[in-house]
Order: sequence, then C-alpha cells, then structure tokens
Amino acid sequence: MTVWICSACGVEHANMARPPARCAICTDERQYVPTGGQQWTSIREMTGRFAGSFTEIEPELSAVQVSPSIGIGQRGLLLRSPAGNVLWEPPAYLDQQMIDAARELGGVAAIASSHPHLVGCSVTWSKAFDGVPIYYAESDRRWIRRPDDQIRLWSGRQQVLPGVELVQCGGHFPGSAVLHWAEGAGGRGVLFVGDTLMVNADRTTVSFMRSYPNLIPLPERLVRQIADTVGELEFDRIYGAFDGKVIDSGAAAAVRTSAARYIGWLRDEIRDPDEE
Ligand SMILES: [Zn+2]
Ligand SMILES: [Zn+2]
Repeated sequence: MTVWICSACGVEHANMARPPARCAICTDERQYVPTGGQQWTSIREMTGRFAGSFTEIEPELSAVQVSPSIGIGQRGLLLRSPAGNVLWEPPAYLDQQMIDAARELGGVAAIASSHPHLVGCSVTWSKAFDGVPIYYAESDRRWIRRPDDQIRLWSGRQQVLPGVELVQCGGHFPGSAVLHWAEGAGGRGVLFVGDTLMVNADRTTVSFMRSYPNLIPLPERLVRQIADTVGELEFDRIYGAFDGKVIDSGAAAAVRTSAARYIGWLRDEIRDPDEE
C-alpha cells in the first residue's frame, strides 16, 4: 500500500495498492495535466533525492521549502506562537531531517491551507506530529483526496490558535481562505493568502482568478466578496503562495486598489490612454 502523490499538483491521495487512474484536482478546469501525462510519486520514491529547509523570513515565521520543487511548488510557512506552531500549506514532501528541524522550532500544533490545490501532504505531516488537526473548508470537502480523522471541517471564521484565524473568502474555490496572524509584521498584522489573492509580479498589487494556469477570471460579485471580507481584517503585509511573492507593507490598500482596478476593467470603465 502506498500514499500516492500526484507529481503535477503534489496532493497526496488515500493509501492504495495502485495509484488512481487520474487526479481529480488536475483534471478540474482550474488545473491541468502536464504534457507528459498523469504521473504519480510517493515519499518513499522521493526520499534521498529531495531535501527540505526552514528559513526564518520574519521573527516567529519560517519558510518551508523543498528542493527540487514538487507539485505546484508552494513555499510552506511555519508560524511560531506561544500556543503552538501553525503549518501553512505544507509541501508535498517530508523526511526525518525535516521532522527534526521542525521539532527544533517547536514542532507543529495545527495545519491549514488556503484551498485544495495547496494541501501538499498535510496528512503525512499531521501523522508525523502525533496527529495534529488539519483544517479543511467545509465547502470544498469533495476535493479531499486523503480522508483522515484529523481533518476538521470549518466555515466562516475559524480560530486555529489564539491570534491566528482562518477567514473564508471564496472566489478561486468557494472555501478559499486567508490566514490572519494578528501579531505578524511587528504587530501590524499579516495575511497568508495562498491562491485566494495572487500577489502579482510587481509585489505591490494582487489579482483574483478562478484559474491561474488557465486564466479564468472571477466575476465582480466574487472579487468584491474577497476584498470586502479581507477589508474587515487588520493587516499590513501579505505572503503569497510562492517564494518572493510578498507585499511587505501597505497591503490592505493594495487589495482595495487592485480590486477596484479589476472591477473597473470588468465593467469596461477603464481606458488605456493610447486607445482612441
Ligand atoms: Zn494532481
Ligand atoms: Zn489554486
């Protein structure tokens, strides 16, 4: 029996003798099957060829990365708090060296992700830390690929630990969420956003999409819903899903102006100055 991991999205699947014929995550219109076709791997197959690292990126926050990149290649985040550590969007790999490194930082008390694309091998991580809870949005439950007793379904708002809260925004998936860390950025507040908001290449604006790889936009209603929900939170910094995708400060204003720009283009209310 093997816990199969889809090589394209990095999502682990239930323990089975043979891998599934296809990955439901990758055949959904929001993702894609690579040109090489559906491929599966496993932690056993990756061990020795992959390595993980924890790098502090601000006080009490470490980036969790795996090299070479596996699946979507998100950069996980390990947030240290007095009540325990939250692991956000774990990568699709874990080995003893990573377990030891995480333990040295205080271990893992809870696991959460923004949406079904970025769960990696959350259940494997949970089991390595004595079965800590994994928060999964109730609205997206049909996308759970590896059911487990530690999965806690939630909706609306969910405190993960004191000062650390999941907030459902919807859009990319109905259950798409952000994680709000009140004490982050020197007490100015931080959001971990996954794909709920996309930190753009300019690192000063964000975008909102049903599908990022297949470029399917969202309607005004959902862009407004995300911006309004996030607008109720106190924050100054945003960490996107990938290395370097950070809006260091002024992030609350960036979300407001980015949403207004997106809606302006949807409504055909913005003109390129070069357009006659
Ligand atoms: Zn997949
Ligand atoms: Zn996604």
